[in-house]
Amino acid sequence: MRLPVLYIIAPCYNEAEIIRETTSALLSLLRSMESDCLISADSRILYADDGSCDATWDIIKSLTQENKDIHAIRLSRNRGHQNALMAALMYSRGKCDAAVTVDADLQDDISKIPQMVAHYLKGAQIVYGVRVSRAKDTRFKRISASMFYRLLTFLGVEIVGNHADFRLMSSAALDALSEFSEVNLFLRAMAPLIGFKTARVTYERQKRIGGKTKYPLRKMISFSLDAITSFSIKPIRIISSIGLFVFLISIIMLIYSLVQHFAHQTVIGWSSLIISVWALGGLQLLAIGVIGEYIGKIYIETKRRPRYIIEEIIDK
Ligand code: UDP
Ligand code: MG
Repeated sequence: MRLPVLYIIAPCYNEAEIIRETTSALLSLLRSMESDCLISADSRILYADDGSCDATWDIIKSLTQENKDIHAIRLSRNRGHQNALMAALMYSRGKCDAAVTVDADLQDDISKIPQMVAHYLKGAQIVYGVRVSRAKDTRFKRISASMFYRLLTFLGVEIVGNHADFRLMSSAALDALSEFSEVNLFLRAMAPLIGFKTARVTYERQKRIGGKTKYPLRKMISFSLDAITSFSIKPIRIISSIGLFVFLISIIMLIYSLVQHFAHQTVIGWSSLIISVWALGGLQLLAIGVIGEYIGKIYIETKRRPRYIIEEIIDK
């Protein structure tokens, strides 16, 4: 039997502090899987440098010279985690039988990769890494993440709970993924749309081995908004239902005020008037905001801009 070629993909943005440590961990994992005859000796580590402005790319370059098992691509500028992942996944397409994506800070438990490969060998085309606990994350991150997942599920987005981007995808899944041409990427919600036979591997999320998170609150909020508006039109529906409800009330109010008028009981209802002006004004602004968010998405998508631009490729 031919052993599968595995690519382990890690996006890196300003990870100079930890990239060497990550490399030695990934390399020894690759070696041990090769000697266990789980994967082919042509398997590789693939770094996607997401336009880092520290020494990350220089270090990666020297690592590729030290070791032929390390390949790397560099995006022309910082495009964000999801685009860096997509660039590397599409680059690895046709070169490997399966690709596993991990965070460069090794928060994903790479010792579970052999299990993922075992599922792949049994026929799974996508294997999701699912966190069993977030004990090592900050309290804020735990609460906000669980709210985010619940909201997504409520909005009808099909998503694997507690799964981020630690995932194995077979070459067939990668081919399918390449058919998705959207620019606003949210890979963890795109993977379930692909279908095929899937499997899950549970793991415990670790602490960052060094360096700082590249996802401050501001980026997390914008990531969540992108995720919701890219995958659900329920917010627009909710606004429409509220609009309908308010419209029904306004009809009742119309009848009521006409009756009052003809009964000559009109008092100067300043407070009720001012309240409804504010309420309706606010509601309209909210509705316009939500619709605007989607129109913004359409605008960006119709431009069909490239999701990433690769500046340099190192593969010997
Ligand atoms: N990352 C990236 N581009 C960015 C931000 C992050 O490629 O603009 C990479 C980062 O180097 C890491 C992974 O995405 O490998 C996850 O980022 P991070 O660990 O900072 O996020 P957190 O785990 O805190 O959510
Ligand atoms: Mg991390």
